[in-house]
Amino acid sequence: MNILIAEMMLEVSTFNPAPTTHADFVVTRGEAFLAARRGRNLEVAGALGIFEGRTDVTVIPTYAAHAVTSGGRLTTVAWRHLATEFLEAVRQAERPDGAYVCMHGAMDADGEHDPEGFLLAEMCAILGAHVPIVVSLDLHGILTDKMLRHADAVVPYHTYPHTDFASTGARAARLLLKVMDGAARPVTARVPIPALVRGDELITATGYFGRQLRMALALENHPAGLSAGMFIGNPFTDVPELRSNAVVVTNDDAGLAQREALAIARDFWDGHERMQVPLTSLGDAVRIARETTPGTTILVDAADATSSGASGDSNAILRALRDGDYARRALIPIVDAPAVRAAFVAGVGADIPVPMGGALDRARFEPIDLQVRVRMLSDGSFVNESDGATWLAGDTAVLAAQNFMIIATSRPVSLYNRSLFLAHGCDPATYDCVIVKSPQCEPHMFRSWAARYVDVDAPGSTSANVRGLGHTICARPIWPLDNITDYQPVAQLFRRG
Ligand SMILES: [Zn+2]
Repeated sequence: MNILIAEMMLEVSTFNPAPTTHADFVVTRGEAFLAARRGRNLEVAGALGIFEGRTDVTVIPTYAAHAVTSGGRLTTVAWRHLATEFLEAVRQAERPDGAYVCMHGAMDADGEHDPEGFLLAEMCAILGAHVPIVVSLDLHGILTDKMLRHADAVVPYHTYPHTDFASTGARAARLLLKVMDGAARPVTARVPIPALVRGDELITATGYFGRQLRMALALENHPAGLSAGMFIGNPFTDVPELRSNAVVVTNDDAGLAQREALAIARDFWDGHERMQVPLTSLGDAVRIARETTPGTTILVDAADATSSGASGDSNAILRALRDGDYARRALIPIVDAPAVRAAFVAGVGADIPVPMGGALDRARFEPIDLQVRVRMLSDGSFVNESDGATWLAGDTAVLAAQNFMIIATSRPVSLYNRSLFLAHGCDPATYDCVIVKSPQCEPHMFRSWAARYVDVDAPGSTSANVRGLGHTICARPIWPLDNITDYQPVAQLFRRG
């Protein structure tokens, strides 16, 4: 049996004004695609582990486009370019009998609000109805009707913060093999839930959201269970079908799928008001950071979370610290290509004036004039401590502005761990204050050792204050943008073909 593998990964914040282009993706094809995944905690690696355990399976690696990090909406040109490359590679694949597609699910392009649905529909047309397609997705994916109609099954992550990349790929691979072996006929029940959620209750190990994922896990362990989970969407991807969804896929048991999807959806809705972030104002955050008790204060700037699609150029907390005469040592990441260029021109050891921040999202952030000393220059290529991958921040400068140590990158890079800091000689544990531009990190990254952990209410294109972002496209009503008092869950059935 020949199994086609393809990948398309991008998460978009529609509210980030800096568009995503083709250059923001790492594209690999054929064996190079697999070589870049093998042995790492990634979906495709997990799937390969299952496929390669079968002597009757030949893997056909086709095409992978993996965004360096999340970002703004894809340009029309970039989207057409990616879609053409992806579908051409699918067309070239030699007689596939099945297909495994690894996707994020929260893409958005100028002129196409459902890129993943489009690609799956085109794949169906190319491969034919007899070739099963199974898709793995991030639980932040926006699950659309088109995706469900053009896949035999979807398989979401079960953890947040996400750690189950490889095992999700393995689950998808096992499910695909069951279908190809004739041992399963997937039927999917999906229950839409009009809610956008954030916050600590989403941490699956400790929060309320973990309950729904344990229900999903129990279903997957049922003899007729194939896949189950919750898609909560990326609240910042303003597309028509943005919402949360409970999903259950069973082996030809529509009744079971409907009952279980409804149960998961009801349990989720029962706790939706808990799944928010209590935020601390900028002024209070600075006051807390100034407390002279020992230990590190983490100021969480989730509004500028590059891994959720933000621009990364916010200087809002930097400004508040400066204006609040914060005198202790602070570590601050920021995307600012012009500042980096100025640092490269000046060289290590030079003292230069630079406007800092607001290089991309000019409507939200005004540059601050700083005098900085260039401490270190790098090409911004470093190893991600979580999975050993190479991350590309572009040219990067470490700039000292008195007590503020600023790591300025040319491009956004994920900041849900310490990799950028450590690669540039800055151990967060040795600072009094660290700005962390990510809504959730694994506890050992910061939370388990920091003295204080503060979710700051700063402006930004991925603010947990979703009411203020200006959604205009997603279907309404949706909580918390609207008040909903009369939600009645309804299960919809999908079967491909
Ligand atoms: Zn996610």
